[in-house]
Amino acid sequence: MIDLRSDTVTRPSKEMLEAMFSAKVGDDVFHDDPTVIMLEEKAAALLGKQAALYCPSGTMTNQIAVNIHTRPGDEVICHKHSHVYYYEGGSMMRNSGVSVCLLEGDQGQISAADVESHINPDTDIHRPVTTLVEVENTMNKGGGSVYKFGTLAAIAEVCRKHNLKYHLDGARLFNALAETGEGPQKYAALFDSVSICLSKGLGAPIGSLILGDNAFIKRARRVRKAFGGAMRQVGYIAAAGIYALDHNISRLKEDHDRARYIGKLLETLPYVENVMPCETNILIFTLGKKYSEKEFLAKLKDKNIHSMSLAPQVIRFVTHLDFTDSMMMTVEDVLKSL
Ligand SMILES: *Cc1c(COP(=O)(O)O)cnc(C)c1O
Repeated sequence: MIDLRSDTVTRPSKEMLEAMFSAKVGDDVFHDDPTVIMLEEKAAALLGKQAALYCPSGTMTNQIAVNIHTRPGDEVICHKHSHVYYYEGGSMMRNSGVSVCLLEGDQGQISAADVESHINPDTDIHRPVTTLVEVENTMNKGGGSVYKFGTLAAIAEVCRKHNLKYHLDGARLFNALAETGEGPQKYAALFDSVSICLSKGLGAPIGSLILGDNAFIKRARRVRKAFGGAMRQVGYIAAAGIYALDHNISRLKEDHDRARYIGKLLETLPYVENVMPCETNILIFTLGKKYSEKEFLAKLKDKNIHSMSLAPQVIRFVTHLDFTDSMMMTVEDVLKSL
């Protein structure tokens, strides 16, 4: 089976499984699981943040950040297609009681000017008070688009000026950095909190990290408990996260090259109407009239290729660690034959 539905579909490699089997564990609710502590310290050092907290999912790390940075009734500014709003089951509203201000923007990105013009100041008692700005890099529904550092820095400036908190959903931050060739610390320094996923391109089976300063992580530990995300001998899966950080960051560009190769091919195919710019490992394209998205997905599935539709006529392919060159050749042959 060739699975292009998501970069979450990877299975742990033999080496990763061996690292998991040999992990030393403790009870992480008592904060004495040495493997979890090692993972958290490693991630904090890598991003240049004071501390990190290991969580079951990226949804939880994002929502912990929202919960800490806001009070009920506050407003969060983010793109209308951001994961934190669009794909997290209404959690911002459900768990933190906040309102959202949803911005538009090409490839899922927002700008400093747009953020600044949508801030509700706390001097106006009529409107919900803006306290948090959230951005996603890379931007999933923006076709895996990569923010320019200058754009993120300009938004950080607006946040500082208006005393707003700034959160990065960096589920695929390392995919972005693989393209810009920069290190994570420069980016992480802009934000009050950063979330990264180990279970996406990095190939771990489970797990995400939320990072921030010591005071923030202390509060995050309490919120994680309250959200039901504190786990016990979780070093067994944290070991996979350590393995992922050590071995799977440097290879991400291979996934991008494969996505771009397929993207170029799609541009030449008569049944494809439009291909979004492919900057990383996510490829979003629109079908012309020849096939509905259901027909197209079914035709691929007949050939054992699984993918996903995001909207009528819109298809998403995501490349990842378990998608090889020979699978890419098969996909090429099948796409050409339709
Ligand atoms: C996958 C993802 C998350 C977190 O998802 P979980 O499935 O909860 O781990 C957060 N943000 C983005 C952009 C994602 O793609």
